[in-house]
Amino acid sequence: MKAAVLHGIRDLRVEEVAEPSLLENEVLIEVKAAGICGTDIHFFKGEWAVPTPLIPGHEFSGVVSKVGKGASGVREGWHVVAEPNVVCGSCYFCKTSEKNFFCSNLKATGVDTDGAFAEFVKVPASNVYKIPEAMSFEEAALIEPVACCVRGIDQAGIRLGDFVAIIGSGPIGSILAQLAKMNGARSVLVSDVSDERLERAKSLGADHAVNSSKEDLAEAVGGLTGGVGADVAIEAVGKPETVSQAIAIARKGGRVNIFGVAPQDAVLSVKPFDLYAKELTITTSYRSPFTFQRAVGLASSGRLMLKPLITHVLPLEEISEAFEMVEGRKQGVMKAMVKP
Ligand SMILES: [Zn+2]
Ligand SMILES: [Zn+2]
Repeated sequence: MKAAVLHGIRDLRVEEVAEPSLLENEVLIEVKAAGICGTDIHFFKGEWAVPTPLIPGHEFSGVVSKVGKGASGVREGWHVVAEPNVVCGSCYFCKTSEKNFFCSNLKATGVDTDGAFAEFVKVPASNVYKIPEAMSFEEAALIEPVACCVRGIDQAGIRLGDFVAIIGSGPIGSILAQLAKMNGARSVLVSDVSDERLERAKSLGADHAVNSSKEDLAEAVGGLTGGVGADVAIEAVGKPETVSQAIAIARKGGRVNIFGVAPQDAVLSVKPFDLYAKELTITTSYRSPFTFQRAVGLASSGRLMLKPLITHVLPLEEISEAFEMVEGRKQGVMKAMVKP
């Protein structure tokens, strides 16, 4: 089959590889759409070390083409998405059921094992979720990021009537903004350094948009909250500077969720006194533990606007161009996808 294989830093090649061979509990999925994530760009740039050679791609949809002998609950021909994180079920973290993905033997499809930038990908049957046939494969490929955002919103602890500020208005920020509104925020402010991304966020329901390269974000938040600050600030960029912004704009007693994935070596400098004086509750959000079913439900309900986030769909052969667009945050690019 054809696949995009990462051989090392900045070395991604489309080549012919063997089709995955199925274990008894696994199913083979014919990939129909696979989204490029900021995490894939981290792998590509060496900011997150992954074993190579690796076929990346963890945000995908497709059709079940083969079901392992011991796999139950999944049928050939189903339109599906799959939770990429595969847990062992027997380590300390799996046994203590803390509703997270801290499994000591965690293997994520497209991160630790071969993923979906290929004609076929295999996953355990228990990680597969059926989607309605009416849903486009492109929208369905956004269910994985939606599942991560559902986790983020759970972690952020938004209460009815909260003023929520979201830093970063890419695909993730735009999903988080929609979910924050659904979760009862009275007002959602989105900040970014791209006017075009901010326009899109507003068209998707954000109440306020601030270009933080032109306007002081803390001042803007202060102005909209009577000088109080945001009840909840969510960082959806993955940079120390934007985490600092989130800490700065959260109100006293407020909550900060660090959602964005920073490079492994990035370091945050913070004044402990500021945290002390504000008595902030700071949470992070790690992957999509037990949120996939809800994400499928949200995407199927039509309440979440996903289509406007998909700006580029390219053939698998042009994956390098797609990576370049996402990495360079090229004008007009939100979510880029490839189709094998
Ligand atoms: Zn992702
Ligand atoms: Zn485990």
